[in-house]
Amino acid sequence: MDNNAHEILHQKGIAHSHSHSHSHDPESIRRIVNRLARAEGHLRSIKGMVERGEDCSEVLVQLAAVKSAINNTGKLILKEHVSHCIVDAIEENDTKAIDNLNDAIEKFIK
Ligand SMILES: [Zn+2]
Repeated sequence: MDNNAHEILHQKGIAHSHSHSHSHDPESIRRIVNRLARAEGHLRSIKGMVERGEDCSEVLVQLAAVKSAINNTGKLILKEHVSHCIVDAIEENDTKAIDNLNDAIEKFIK
């Protein structure tokens, strides 16, 4: 379906099986990938600390920092997802996307 035909279905409020492509812009994907890469590097350095038998308290402090970095990345993904994908999903009456998000929130916030 071309974009124009798709637009018309939307304007007329006609339900259609086509699902939106995942609509995150390259800039926000890059930001999220960067954060994950930093957390990955940090976690690898903590692995090195453990292998070298470094102080456990210091390892725990560093682990806490990675946990909060991962949590913040999750929040960023959640915000992006709500303001792009979920806005589209509501417009399309795509209740499945909303159910999926609710399940994900359940697991994420624990
Ligand atoms: Zn999304």
